[in-house]
Amino acid sequence: MTDDALMQDCKTTPYWWEDVPRPVLPGAPLPASVDVAVVGAGYTGLHAALQTARGGRSTLVFDAEDAGWGCSSRNGGQVSTSIKPSYEQLARRHGPQRAFDILKEGQNSLAWITQFVREEGIECNFAQVGRFHAAHNAAQYQALEARVGSQPAGLEVDAFMVPRERQREELGTDLYWGGAVYTQHCAVHPARYHQGLLERVMAAGAQVQARCPVLQISGSPGQFVLRSPQGEVRARDVVIATNGYTGNLTPWLRRRVIPIGSYMIATEPLPTELMDRLFPSNRIVSDTRKVVYYYRCSPDRRRVLFGGRVSHQETDPRISGPKLHADMVRLFPELRETRISHSWCGFVAYTFDELMHIGKHDGMHYAMGYCGAGVGTSSYFGMRMGQQVLGLAQGRTALDGLAFQTRPLYTGNPWFLAPSVAYYRWRDRRPV
Ligand SMILES: Cc1cc2nc3c(=O)[nH]c(=O)nc-3n(C[C@H](O)[C@H](O)[C@H](O)COP(=O)(O)OP(=O)(O)OC[C@H]3O[C@@H](n4cnc5c(N)ncnc54)[C@H](O)[C@@H]3O)c2cc1C
Repeated sequence: MTDDALMQDCKTTPYWWEDVPRPVLPGAPLPASVDVAVVGAGYTGLHAALQTARGGRSTLVFDAEDAGWGCSSRNGGQVSTSIKPSYEQLARRHGPQRAFDILKEGQNSLAWITQFVREEGIECNFAQVGRFHAAHNAAQYQALEARVGSQPAGLEVDAFMVPRERQREELGTDLYWGGAVYTQHCAVHPARYHQGLLERVMAAGAQVQARCPVLQISGSPGQFVLRSPQGEVRARDVVIATNGYTGNLTPWLRRRVIPIGSYMIATEPLPTELMDRLFPSNRIVSDTRKVVYYYRCSPDRRRVLFGGRVSHQETDPRISGPKLHADMVRLFPELRETRISHSWCGFVAYTFDELMHIGKHDGMHYAMGYCGAGVGTSSYFGMRMGQQVLGLAQGRTALDGLAFQTRPLYTGNPWFLAPSVAYYRWRDRRPV
């Protein structure tokens, strides 16, 4: 099929927006002053706002676009423990106790979001389906087996290995070398989750101002002034929750996060028998490639939602769509003639130490840098940041006070990504 035929009638907005269009919010005038001003209405900003609003602080959330327009309504809806470095790597850098505590926070985030969705009664197809993490070569299978077999004491998670000969019990492809199943990982409808959260934030009394970018922040704690096209607002506390969309508003943060495009496609609806063959266990899936693929069924099990990193600069979903389709067909040749119904992308934020960061700079709170896997962690650290604004002891996290590194000459334009991605792609293809 030609690229044009593949993309015929393809929408360039997220599949999730079919169910949950971007919310139309009441365009109330901006207040002259608030206790807390939050920049960014994704999971991070809204969870911080939920804490401060429920804690009795007048709270105003700005978003430059519609609420949830960023990653929080574009992601794959895979929820995991989300700390990228291993225990050994973290222990070398920060010592064994800090390493343990950081990894524990990742586990806390998964447990916490599961409980949050249940207690708040948010209908968002949240389910503990488990993850099949596939090995893309034999060495990676052995490495996974070693990792599952010798987990650090106190950090054990429920997981088991699936050898290559039994792989089709998990996934309808022979391309991988087996993999590991992490039973506690979850799937969610990301836009329904965002919508449920947004409704609770507004019910708690916070004002959410969409299509209102913050252009400048001046002043200091207790007397910040935020300038926007709709006017100025004074705020006692400011929360920055802009993750992969962090821009010139906060140059210090911009120098510390690396925006990377992440891309997804949705297929047209497929026959039940085919979906049952491709996803017999209904798990979310990722693989051990450095330039990772992540995919799953849609909540109604009618479509494949396939994601990956196509190119750091590509922003046209009409170009990224056919590339992702070709990658998907390498795994599932049966999908060669399947059309794409939706193709979209968004910007995640990496950091130089592959950890998320939460803290304060120039008196402003921030949490960001989830390195591509932030559904659980952005919710959790957003919540903790809200508690920190309230001055609550339970707001403390194991990541507090970690140095947020940058690199000389880096100002927010990741010129080094193209050669790095090319190198990793080459490495991923090597038959080890
Ligand atoms: C295609 C894709 C797939 C993904 N898949 C997964 C997955 O399966 N699992 C997982 O865990 N994570 C995944 N992620 C990552 C995850 O979605 C993010 O880590 C998480 O949503 C980050 O939330 P956030 O609130 O910090 O940022 P965002 O949701 O990106 O929100 C930031 C907001 O800040 C606003 N903003 C920026 N500047 C300003 C300003 N000056 N004034 C006002 N507003 C401003 C933006 O408009 C934006 O809405 C994926 C991301 C993408 C793009």
